[in-house]
Amino acid sequence: MRTPIEQRLRERLTAARASGRWRAPRTLEGMQSPEQVIDGRPVLAFCSNDYLGLAADPRVTTVARAALERYGMGAGAAHLVNGHTRAHAELEADLAEFTGRERALLFSTGYMANLGVLQALMGRHDTVLEDRLNHASLLDASRLAGCRIRRYRHGDAEHAAALLEDVGPERQSLIVTDGVFSMDGDLAPLPALAAAARRRGAWLMVDDAHGLGVLGEGGGGSCEHFRLSPSETPVLMGTLGKAFGTAGAFVAGSQTLIESLIQFSRTYIYTTAMPAAIAAATRESLAIAERESWRRNHLQNLIGRLRKGLSELGLLHTGSVAPIQPVVLGASGMATAMADALLERGLLVPAIRPPTVPEGTARLRITLSAAHTETQVDRLLGTIDHLLPRIRGACAQAV
Ligand SMILES: *Cc1c(COP(=O)(O)O)cnc(C)c1O
Repeated sequence: MRTPIEQRLRERLTAARASGRWRAPRTLEGMQSPEQVIDGRPVLAFCSNDYLGLAADPRVTTVARAALERYGMGAGAAHLVNGHTRAHAELEADLAEFTGRERALLFSTGYMANLGVLQALMGRHDTVLEDRLNHASLLDASRLAGCRIRRYRHGDAEHAAALLEDVGPERQSLIVTDGVFSMDGDLAPLPALAAAARRRGAWLMVDDAHGLGVLGEGGGGSCEHFRLSPSETPVLMGTLGKAFGTAGAFVAGSQTLIESLIQFSRTYIYTTAMPAAIAAATRESLAIAERESWRRNHLQNLIGRLRKGLSELGLLHTGSVAPIQPVVLGASGMATAMADALLERGLLVPAIRPPTVPEGTARLRITLSAAHTETQVDRLLGTIDHLLPRIRGACAQAV
């Protein structure tokens, strides 16, 4: 006899399969790099978040190997017990300096960092204002914090300010936003959000997972791009698994913020510290990311080249300056047919469909890396150009 749980899970799986929204991981052989073998097939990939091409950098792996010898593999305990090594302490100091904040604190992942910040800062009577298109972890974070949640229209600082007016001035509130949005690569209106927060004595939290390392002359991310001071963006969250090519995340801010997270953040307190070798390797990749500005320049050059090509194909729909470049194709069928046809030709570009994006805006989501070459970008553009009439024709017939 099947238990009710099993019965229901089977029904939901059947429904998910039927909806055409089935998800399954592909298996990558070897390192993250543009040319890779995935599910046994050689492809040129345009979907990783390794924006600066550091995930497989030999200097980073060399440091990691040396740190493995010194510290061993596992941290063995939480930071507050005895898992916090010299390597962790040094990385936190580097991250504070890099971001121009008083202090920084490591978390095991960005997801955990977001959960930990909102839970530590916000109580039942407090209000979090969230952009409608914020990352899932930020939305989950305010739910878990049990605070009041107000979602403002995407990128609309005036709407955020208006919602803030409704919160009593005696109430504590926090505006939370992605710095660079993960689906469209567009930037949050940080200066206007910071001004709105300041007027009401609220704080602004920026999740800069896709901006740090990439935007700003020194890779300081969205805050550097907009020349915002630390006091205008009091809570900065960054991930280490994207542009910095390693794993984990951090929060940077004032002594008061960081000390509060250490005392009150459950996802900091009740979890094992990241392996020290990852912390040591991240110090190296952070230093490279900061120093080798040619990576950012090359990436911007590739972004410009891709955008020019898309524009010539009539496929440019956004002003994104980030390595995330959506190609909106419209119907879900168009986007999946294009992604499938590209894969047949050895190009891995994911199709993003509703409900992840609004109805009628199914798209390819191209992400570029400093590890790509101009020739590879040209190959992608040429293949899209070649396939477009056929895909359009096939989809028109299907309608
Ligand atoms: C990737 C991402 C996260 C989660 O970070 P992980 O370290 O991968 O858990 C959080 N916020 C945004 C905007 C992200 O893109």
